[in-house]
Amino acid sequence: MTSPPPLAKDSPIIIIGAGIFGLSTSLHLAQRGYSNITVFDKQPYHKTLYSYDAGCDSASFDINKIIRSAYGSQTEYQDLSTEALSAWAAWNEELKSSSEDDTLLPPGMTSSDIFFIQNGHLTCSDADTLPEFERATVENMELAGHHGTQLINNEQRDIKLASQQGFTSALQPFDKHVLGVLDTTGGFVLADKACRFALYKAKRLGVRFILGAESGRLTSFIHRSSVSPSTNSIITGIVTADGKSHSAALTILCCGGWTPSLLPSLDSLCETTAGSVFMLHIPEASPLRKRFHHSRFPSWSFNMRDHGADGGLYGFPVDQNGVLKIGYRGTKYTNPQVQSDGRERSVPVTKWSSNDAITQVPQQAHQVVTKFLEEYLPELGNSGIYIAETRLCWYTDSFDNHYVIDRVPRHEGLMCATGGSGHAFKFLPSIGNWVVDVIEGVGLDRPAIKAWRWRILQEGEEPVNKLMEGSQGPRSLWNVPLVSV
Ligand SMILES: Cc1cc2nc3c(=O)[nH]c(=O)nc-3n(C[C@H](O)[C@H](O)[C@H](O)COP(=O)(O)OP(=O)(O)OC[C@H]3O[C@@H](n4cnc5c(N)ncnc54)[C@H](O)[C@@H]3O)c2cc1C
Repeated sequence: MTSPPPLAKDSPIIIIGAGIFGLSTSLHLAQRGYSNITVFDKQPYHKTLYSYDAGCDSASFDINKIIRSAYGSQTEYQDLSTEALSAWAAWNEELKSSSEDDTLLPPGMTSSDIFFIQNGHLTCSDADTLPEFERATVENMELAGHHGTQLINNEQRDIKLASQQGFTSALQPFDKHVLGVLDTTGGFVLADKACRFALYKAKRLGVRFILGAESGRLTSFIHRSSVSPSTNSIITGIVTADGKSHSAALTILCCGGWTPSLLPSLDSLCETTAGSVFMLHIPEASPLRKRFHHSRFPSWSFNMRDHGADGGLYGFPVDQNGVLKIGYRGTKYTNPQVQSDGRERSVPVTKWSSNDAITQVPQQAHQVVTKFLEEYLPELGNSGIYIAETRLCWYTDSFDNHYVIDRVPRHEGLMCATGGSGHAFKFLPSIGNWVVDVIEGVGLDRPAIKAWRWRILQEGEEPVNKLMEGSQGPRSLWNVPLVSV
């Protein structure tokens, strides 16, 4: 592809989607001096404040998300995490110091709020020996100079280090022992609050937000045909559901799980898949509120790799409302629907969807989580605390788990930043800086940016995620039994 002409700082830029990719991109564009940025989203986040209970169903809404530096041999993401951790610390500081200037805070937030809680992230399994991923993490974090941050929970030297740093209880957080590595740089972020803050910050920097089902929803692109043989069309803007046209020199699609159906050329590169989320409610008077408090209990992942449908669990400490959240990704379910071009693509469906809303979760996910709770956290059931709520949450998986941040081939003026593959939230404060580098053509030979290029599965390449199995496939929600709690 030939390089597009540079964008003037006052060129109109449209971003569609106010999830983490859209928010972060808008923030960093504004910070680099771009002055004509509009973010569109079909969800009215100014009213719903990224809360699921208020009707949000994007991937970025949530009460909490995991932060970790542990990335095995994928040192490009390890480095990104180091960068993001500094940015999260800076945001925490910004919040704290806002007591002197409350215009820095979105309405409803105070300077005693916090985004990132560094209570450690435990990657663990029921194996007898440390899996390759954990070994690689320990080695690569040491090589990068982060000494003593990755603590193996059965090694005396590391147990001592954990005790010195106040992490003893996070090494073995369950009622049954596990083998794993505590990443003491990690923990979790309060996701909805962080998104609200990012949106407010972007607004303060002059970014316009058009939010809502009519004025904020992209329905089509405006394009004109190209005279260049390497380009099919030039995208010059969008049309929204209220019928209005909006011109842009650059349009950036950041629509999470909705992106593959808006951009069919992502077929076989990205697919929308569901994770199953389970919430237990711990009453305020219960001593388990203390037991699962973040000062004692880490964020964790269990049997995440090589366990197929029986593994893929992760979880969090209890939140301030008593919610203990556990997620399941052992099977990445799909919702294939026939689209206007006659092809099937998986699209998000949740309890908030206007068509075919779904309030249940797959029985298999429920069984795996219930078994884990019985085996590893029986004290919850013994105290009469069971799964109280469930939901589906929609990821955008690429075949290799790398993001897709690139110009869309053959469509001048169109980019996408998507394919979060279950691990992009942690980069909310920083990923936009990389997107702007891609826009400006800066440092394109860095490994991360190369990994995010538009790509196809090469012959003989084994995909991390098998995509597009369709409605007849074993992961289709319509072929698996569903349960309610
Ligand atoms: C259950 C779950 C748990 C996760 N846990 C973690 C974790 O612990 N740590 C971590 O780092 N990452 C985690 N992730 C991954 C992370 O949340 C995602 O990678 C990230 O939030 C994706 O952001 P996004 O901007 O791509 O998409 P989204 O957040 O889904 O945002 C897309 C936006 O586009 C809007 N949109 C869609 N279509 C249109 C349209 N036609 N017009 C206008 N707007 C439109 C939507 O309304 C939405 O607001 C998790 C993901 C899920 C689903």
